Amino acid sequence: MAGNPMLKFVTLHREMPEKRDAQNRKADFGEIYREFAAERAAAQASRCSQCGVPYCQTHCPLHNNIPDWLRLTAEGRLREAYDISQLTNTFPEICGRICPQDRLCEGNCVIEQSGHGTVTIGAVEKYITDTAWEEGWVEPPAPAEERPESVGIVGAGPGGLAAADMLRRAGVQVTVYDRYDRAGGLLSYGIPGFKLEKEVVERRNRQLEEGGVAFELGCEVGRDVTFAELRERHDALVIATGVYKSRELEHPHADAQGVVKAIDYLTVSSKKYFGDQVDEFDSGEMNAEGKRVVVIGGGDTAMDCVRTAIRQGATSVKCLYRRDRANMPGSQREVGNAEEEGVEFVWLTAPGGFETHGMTPDAEVRQIGPEGQGSGVRPGPATGPVRGVSVQRMKLGEPDATGRQRPEVMEGADYLEEADLVIKALGFEPEDLPTLWEQPELEVTRWGTVKADFRTHATALDGVYAVGDIVRGASLVVWAIRDGRECAEAILERFDLATVEARTMATATVAAE
Ligand code: FAD
Ligand code: SF4
Ligand code: SF4
Repeated sequence: MAGNPMLKFVTLHREMPEKRDAQNRKADFGEIYREFAAERAAAQASRCSQCGVPYCQTHCPLHNNIPDWLRLTAEGRLREAYDISQLTNTFPEICGRICPQDRLCEGNCVIEQSGHGTVTIGAVEKYITDTAWEEGWVEPPAPAEERPESVGIVGAGPGGLAAADMLRRAGVQVTVYDRYDRAGGLLSYGIPGFKLEKEVVERRNRQLEEGGVAFELGCEVGRDVTFAELRERHDALVIATGVYKSRELEHPHADAQGVVKAIDYLTVSSKKYFGDQVDEFDSGEMNAEGKRVVVIGGGDTAMDCVRTAIRQGATSVKCLYRRDRANMPGSQREVGNAEEEGVEFVWLTAPGGFETHGMTPDAEVRQIGPEGQGSGVRPGPATGPVRGVSVQRMKLGEPDATGRQRPEVMEGADYLEEADLVIKALGFEPEDLPTLWEQPELEVTRWGTVKADFRTHATALDGVYAVGDIVRGASLVVWAIRDGRECAEAILERFDLATVEARTMATATVAAE
């Protein structure tokens, strides 16, 4: 093994890039991990044992060639490492920052399985690409030759942008439509800066533009332009609209003043972070400063809300989740980060209702009189701002069909959790696109997600493709990137086939003449 730069996992411990101290990082929206220094990135990459069957690669949705770029990093050959890394991933520096590596590549690293601590794959991927940006190796997707075909992409999230990048590199004329005023989808207006600084997304957006991708922002398909018009305008269309319909609670006062949806709260916070004038923030409606905040939910969105509230200066932040820590869907790494920053998790709790400063349902009953003395419950007056969440304590019961223990209410154990701002982070569902876009032939699943071919991403409408969350339901950035890339390949195959057919027809016509 003399001279082998790899297999250092036995003598070298796993190390992440340095994390900023919790007190310090709470004061801003900057990323919490610092950059690896060159020697440390090389050292950490050298821990890889270069598996013959690399499970890390199998469990990366993009099947990144991880062992090769780790070896090249260990050898200090960063330019080559970058060239290999960007072959399979359109936005490696973004995935390196926000993939839940513990569930994907790193969670399946054999070194982790053997108890030595996984290779820090994500941090090295980020390091390679950040270096590539600094060195000017990241090229805009400017093609060598232009093609005549044009593709319209609805949605400028990672799915749409990954497709745009590949198609443009092949010379296709690409226009991306988005209802927001900035490209990036949830990378811009969802995922907070402490996980992914906005400049990392913005420089990608700028580069796509420099490469010739046209953006029509502030353009909502179904309102500003019809889907049918876009089909006329382009040779192929990609639907990459994500899922934005927030799941709701049925309880009374679930929309009282001060009870807000997670996506609205995070979007407002992102806009403020971009430096925009945001009335909902400036009025205090969506600003946690000086407030007792309760976040309902246990997924990644809830984690982003609690940590955003801390940074906005909330006096306390509590997260209610109906199962326990071991059974929560959000990343354990993010829970740890949130706890360090001062968030309190209240496991095995669920909202049973909301109390407001106006008259509560209880107060209405009392006003009318005890049972038998009044004339029944009158409809309550317009409710005031939220006063708290009526919390039900839960216990885990029998496993359900998926094997997860079902949360059950503990009777008589309710209590009031006082709050000035309640954020509902209960997940997302797709909007009803066939109705919104007057496209009844666009097939959807029973969950409302668009039905698309597993490999080509073609939908039931000829020349229309769909990628990312609108097909998968709320998922991950890395899956949206994979879909976008695969869909671009399928569209190029379609165009090439059409070109060959047109040439064959032309030759046949000439021959017939
Ligand atoms: P999106 O990113 O949602 O983009 C869709 C775009 O379509 C939007 O810009 C929208 O404005 C536009 N659009 C929608 N309808 C129309 C219309 N009618 N006309 C024009 N434009 C339209 N994933 C991770 O991997 N790691 C994380 O840490 C992570 N954190 C997350 C945190 C939050 C708060 C949320 C909500 C999600 C998080 N995710 C994370 C999930 C990830 O962001 C999504 O899976 C991913 O962004 C999906 O990409 P997409 O391209 O399908 O859609
Ligand atoms: Fe891991 Fe995500 Fe990078 Fe794949 S893209 S190697 S899953 S961090
Ligand atoms: Fe290296 Fe771990 Fe991947 Fe094996 S599984 S190639 S040790 S990163």
